[in-house]
Amino acid sequence: MTTKSKADFAVMSRLAADIDLDADGKAHGFVRVPHSVHRSAYGWIPIPIFRIKNGKGPTVIMQAGNHGDEWEGQIGLGNLIRSLKPSQIQGKLIILPSANFPAAMAGTRTSPIDEGNLNRMFPGDPDGTITAQIAFWIEQRLLKGADYSFDFHSGGSSLSYIPSALMPRMPDQAWCKKSIELMKVFGAPVSYIAATPQGGGRTFTSAAYRQGVVAIGTELGGGGLVTPTSLKVAEDGMRRVLKHVGLYKGAVSPAPATRLMEVGGDDYYIYASEGGLFEPLVDLGAEVKKGQPAARIHFHHSPWREPELLRFKRAGLVLCKRVPARCERGDCLFHLATDVAG
Ligand SMILES: [Zn+2]
Repeated sequence: MTTKSKADFAVMSRLAADIDLDADGKAHGFVRVPHSVHRSAYGWIPIPIFRIKNGKGPTVIMQAGNHGDEWEGQIGLGNLIRSLKPSQIQGKLIILPSANFPAAMAGTRTSPIDEGNLNRMFPGDPDGTITAQIAFWIEQRLLKGADYSFDFHSGGSSLSYIPSALMPRMPDQAWCKKSIELMKVFGAPVSYIAATPQGGGRTFTSAAYRQGVVAIGTELGGGGLVTPTSLKVAEDGMRRVLKHVGLYKGAVSPAPATRLMEVGGDDYYIYASEGGLFEPLVDLGAEVKKGQPAARIHFHHSPWREPELLRFKRAGLVLCKRVPARCERGDCLFHLATDVAG
């Protein structure tokens, strides 16, 4: 899988961009995913793609809509696409604003076509489901040979975050150092190292690492909505990191101070122990102590039953909180973060 030419991948993957991803100038079009259905025998799914290139310089990949219901990155990248001019660029920037396009169109985390969670499907499969084919094309055609990548997530419909940048802790120390530097330049209120990353090697950022691409992700907010505050974090940060890597020559605002934190293992998370109604006992941004009450789960089918009380298993900052009140056993209700020296 490491020495294939571009032509080999054209054969292996059924996906293809209808613009030249290597030409100079500014262009937009679609990655075509062949999809033969009742409505359209020879049709394809159009994933929007954008390229801007000017001469030699770094190759940068920016992506949002990896989860379809995470909107800040999708709006921010659209704004960036419309504003950039080739004269402001040195190198190549490719943007996929809604990477899992069927999921984005449905407003859901996963694809309505195959239930595929794109960020759990890397390295993908050229002969797999639609979402697996998208993952394969992204890793082989976009990430392979790139220098930097950015994957703009947020909490989506079920979670709300303090706007954050994040990177997984990986064995390559030089890679981690560069990613931490990118998080500081991005300048979200919190930057965290995921010590035990979600996804187990199947995420976009894991794919980037596999391909030797320096990468960070974000959790910009969530709750199924967009705020001026979260969008500003996204848009200012996007321009700053592009400037930092030498691709963008325009003006940027200075990076605000970020709080460098870590999200560790199981004791950072509070999961629903029962199905029912989630009553949070703290808000997002609270500083909590070990043993402090976190939530009560109410039994709305038997309201005379005493609610289940859940307590935080360690001290930390409440970085992430569940949005919907209804919950099932196993749903994540909170996760914490703790400060690291940096
Ligand atoms: Zn996400």
